[in-house]
Amino acid sequence: MLFPRLPRAFARKFHKTENKRERTIQGQFLIPVPAGSVISESYPTRVTHGQVMLSHNGTKVLAPVNGVATLTPDQKFFQIKQDGSWSTSSVYHFQNYDFSSLTNAFDEGALASLDIQDMPLKDYFLKFKSNPSFRIVLSPFSRYQHLDFENMILGSMKEAYISFVELVKSIFPKVEVTNFFENPTLKFEHPNGIPEYFLHKQFDWNVVKAKKSLLSNEILYLGAETIYHILRKLYFGEPFTKRHLAVFLVDRKGRIDLEPRQFFLTNGQSLAFIPNNMDKRYKIASFDTVFDAIQPMDVNALGYFNIYEHYSITLYEKLPVARKEFSCIDCMECNHYCPTHANPFQLIKGKSEEFDKDKCVSCGICTVYCPAGIDIRKRIEEVV
Ligand code: SF4
Ligand code: SF4
Repeated sequence: MLFPRLPRAFARKFHKTENKRERTIQGQFLIPVPAGSVISESYPTRVTHGQVMLSHNGTKVLAPVNGVATLTPDQKFFQIKQDGSWSTSSVYHFQNYDFSSLTNAFDEGALASLDIQDMPLKDYFLKFKSNPSFRIVLSPFSRYQHLDFENMILGSMKEAYISFVELVKSIFPKVEVTNFFENPTLKFEHPNGIPEYFLHKQFDWNVVKAKKSLLSNEILYLGAETIYHILRKLYFGEPFTKRHLAVFLVDRKGRIDLEPRQFFLTNGQSLAFIPNNMDKRYKIASFDTVFDAIQPMDVNALGYFNIYEHYSITLYEKLPVARKEFSCIDCMECNHYCPTHANPFQLIKGKSEEFDKDKCVSCGICTVYCPAGIDIRKRIEEVV
């Protein structure tokens, strides 16, 4: 069996994180240079927190700290040695924006949609600038991060949140804004953070329509983690140089600890503190949740935090891929737990035409629940 019976709701539990007076981290920071980019600056050079070190295809690399930046000899990484702390401006400061200054702020802060892959937020908003008919959806859940951003936003960032909702309405006065924050009936349960699934559930649309609404820009979708970083930039002056990381533990019997350790990390920061501070029994790590394909590695080889790629680490006491795949036992658990009724059972039975791939939102639930350890996710990838 792959994993134990997870509760139907893959619930989130939260820890308080925001430390507003941090700012000195020992060691070097390592940030990848985007492939194909041209480096014009001569190195080493002094950088300050938030300074643009490189801009490539709409993506910006910002200095995560004050310090001295060099390039590694292969020119694949910026290496930054922090040489001092700096004061944070993490207090709410109201500021007015129009469309142009808003998108400039997104660009300056290197903000990206954390719901739609590889999408700088400026580019995303520009798609809607002259779009005559679309709708804005604000979701309290986040695609990649199973942490309670709604709670964080409605706690210490409430003023900023109210300002942002007003701002969105003023920038797009004719557009309907559907705000799912502060809706007491909404409880997080995986896969609610996946935008197409969220739209399918909340608007009672079929999954195909929900996917299309995102692809054809009928919906401007902002999940809670994206909104969290928008607020930090617009009203707290903080660029996107930090991101939350949730660390899950899976013991040798495959039981998952549903209370993730939560960290708020600086881009490029070494992840060596994880094996140094965690229970030494957890020797294997994967930059994924249990619902994703696991790519196991030694916990000491986690390297450096990449703000655009890393949001979760699962630590295993025992290598999960050591388990065997058995033959399908026709238990129908995969179909039973599939939230969109895509019929993955038929795929395993070789009747791929009866698997409704258009309904599949790649949530990974069927794989997690399969008692025979069949990698249904992989079979799905082969047909979509
Ligand atoms: S088939 Fe599997 S991955 Fe696809 S939606 Fe259903 S449970 Fe999720
Ligand atoms: S694929 Fe797995 S979950 Fe689905 S019927 Fe077969 S054994 Fe059960």
